[in-house]
Amino acid sequence: MINVLEECKGANVIGISGHVRPDGDCTGSVSALYQYLKKALPDVQIELLLEKPSAVFADLPGYERMGRSFAKQTEFDVFFILDSTQERIGFAEAHAKKAKKRINIDHHISNPGTECDVNYVVPEASSTAELVYELIGKENLDAQIAKSIYIGMIHDTGVFQYSNTSPKTLRIAAQLLEYGFDFPKLIDETFYEKTYVQNQILGRALLESILFMDGKCIASMVDRKLMDFYQADSKDFEGIVNQLRVVKGVECAIFMYETGTLEYKVSLRSCGAVDVSKVAEYFGGGGHVRAAGCMLSGTYHDVLNNLSREIAKQMPGFQV
Ligand code: AMP
Ligand code: MN
Ligand code: MN
Repeated sequence: MINVLEECKGANVIGISGHVRPDGDCTGSVSALYQYLKKALPDVQIELLLEKPSAVFADLPGYERMGRSFAKQTEFDVFFILDSTQERIGFAEAHAKKAKKRINIDHHISNPGTECDVNYVVPEASSTAELVYELIGKENLDAQIAKSIYIGMIHDTGVFQYSNTSPKTLRIAAQLLEYGFDFPKLIDETFYEKTYVQNQILGRALLESILFMDGKCIASMVDRKLMDFYQADSKDFEGIVNQLRVVKGVECAIFMYETGTLEYKVSLRSCGAVDVSKVAEYFGGGGHVRAAGCMLSGTYHDVLNNLSREIAKQMPGFQV
């Protein structure tokens, strides 16, 4: 394990970043590390370099500092990259490259774990938040930090449901609950609650989904026209791919939305038979065995064809 404070010794300016389109784990981890460093190093300038996360996370400390851009000349002594590789942090990448020391904390199996000066990459961890918990140490927690870590954990484990939930994950969660925050409210407001429009889009995506490979694969897509009609963006599609995956008989679910002309952000989910991180990596993305993503270009038809060819290589009974 690394010693975060030791690594930050002598630093005057510290940056904390995470992946583009930050999810609950990314946002919770950044918020938790930010609070810890601010408390432990009160004289150090600490900046957050993260796209604005969904408003459901607005109560997390540091949220108001997320989504800001930075002057190119800002020089960082230490630069944290959380829940991501360096190439997936968007505008923060240019700053990371110039930083004196880069520290990577992540749990993606697709992360080579050798990119930065200091790498703490643990694929067995449920979430980056779980790793941040360990790095901060139980004795340095407070109620607000606990809440941020808890949010990270529930989002990446589907509220302690997915196979990445370990006994250790639950033991950590138990420690966090000792702080007495209103966890059912937090779960409802950040994980389950949907706006009317989000639910309508979910409905559309389910309605227009298609089954193939004898019902073992399911796919659906949201195009620009639909996004414009509902005034929706990427934050409105959270959970759709999971709903597709639970269709009886489905082994692998694909959800994609148009990010530009003939360009899609693809989400993949698996019930275990197919390692979707391999599929995503083949197309330049990455992730975990049961949850991964990538960007693809072409018509919906082309993209589906390409994806299913790679999925079939692993799908029992469909190998060519
Ligand atoms: P998503 O489908 O966007 O919810 O992503 C599922 C999992 O795969 C998350 O852990 C993401 O961080 C990861 N992931 C998504 N896209 C990429 C990518 N392009 N490169 C690496 N990991 C990704
Ligand atoms: Mn993430
Ligand atoms: Mn994560």
